[in-house]
Amino acid sequence: MDASPRTAVFSRITMDTPHDCESVEEIKEALQNNNQAKAMAKIQEYLDRQNNIPLNIAITGETGSGKSTFVNAFRGIKDGDAGAAPTGVRETTKKPTPYPHPNYPNVKLWDLPGVGGRHFPADQYLNDVGFEKFDFFIIFSDTRFRENDVKLAREIQRMKKKFYFVRSKIDNDLRAQKRSQREFSETETKEQIKEDCIQCLQEQGIQSPQVFLVSSFELHLHDFSLLTETLERELPEHKRNALLFAMPNISLEIINKKKKAFQAKIKWHATLSAAAAGVPVPGLSIAVDAALLAGVVTQYVFGFGLDRPSLKSLAESSGVPFDDLMTVIISPLAAREMTADLIIKVLSQCAGTAALIAAEEGSRLIPIIGIPAAMALSFTATYSTLNFILNNIAADAQKVFEKALG
Ligand code: GDP
Repeated sequence: MDASPRTAVFSRITMDTPHDCESVEEIKEALQNNNQAKAMAKIQEYLDRQNNIPLNIAITGETGSGKSTFVNAFRGIKDGDAGAAPTGVRETTKKPTPYPHPNYPNVKLWDLPGVGGRHFPADQYLNDVGFEKFDFFIIFSDTRFRENDVKLAREIQRMKKKFYFVRSKIDNDLRAQKRSQREFSETETKEQIKEDCIQCLQEQGIQSPQVFLVSSFELHLHDFSLLTETLERELPEHKRNALLFAMPNISLEIINKKKKAFQAKIKWHATLSAAAAGVPVPGLSIAVDAALLAGVVTQYVFGFGLDRPSLKSLAESSGVPFDDLMTVIISPLAAREMTADLIIKVLSQCAGTAALIAAEEGSRLIPIIGIPAAMALSFTATYSTLNFILNNIAADAQKVFEKALG
């Protein structure tokens, strides 16, 4: 009797990656056996695990090469703010220091000491910094890469880890060249600097080195996008979202990718909501839905950098006043603290969703098919509400990006 609404819920459950297989099977089995409480616990466990996948990025290079400034810029933190890596410090004995992303503490950028010298000889360096925990290494230099950088790259390769070269402070080079050359071409100058770095690394025995030209003062320009694309492509599949969500919104493409990644999770949130609707406790479904929506929407706001601290920091770095950025934001959920009242206000704006919620409550009263029908309706209500909110928030993020970076 209850086959059809229930099938509607099961049919939306698909695997995201091979790592998910086991959890997905357990969730399906619990739902099929009418064990909604177990299904809810398993889904929550699965979502928590997905949100807490650790990503440890090692940033290394000589003192003064711009590591700390990059660590701060990547995390959208201003030099000198609370939690910022200290910049411009002449320090030769410092220890590896983790800097968690403010909104995604599972993603850590590690500011490592420069290789070489008495304190960190190249052959012991990786053991000294505990290389196993790092997913990949980024080697910084604000000039040509030196012997120590190459020694370190070889060691990293020997340990079967990945490394990338960042030629930092590229804005300085471009400014200097512009001043000294009568016919200045930015593209040619950058090609020349990159070619020079690659050749220098190849001469020292590194085959096909990956070099990216970056300015931490203008991450949306030059090769930072290319660097993030490369990192994302070369990371194991289950770590890609961790990197993606923590990335600064420096291009429309990144905003779109974040939207797609959030979209892929909606079926799980909807299934969680359906499972709650299947538990015969009055009021539980609505309570779970409100908590679930508040939690998920908060993730959207943080993920797209539409929380107040991120918008303030964007206003300062872009020079576009905070109030001007706020003028392009339509969603009432951005730059606000998420509360049940706010969520209810937004829900009331989605006419279709309000009707579905009413239908869900009403359907419980129908004998025999009541609960499965309520589950299917709950699934649909959560699914369409989250899609609606996500579309609005992602559209706001695009407008903020365009306003700030012109
Ligand atoms: P670290 O010792 O490798 O951590 O280097 P810092 O991040 O402390 O940077 C050293 C100096 O270079 C500071 O004065 C920074 O402001 C400056 N700096 C860092 N990154 C950039 C950049 O992308 N462009 C420019 N022009 N200066 C930079």
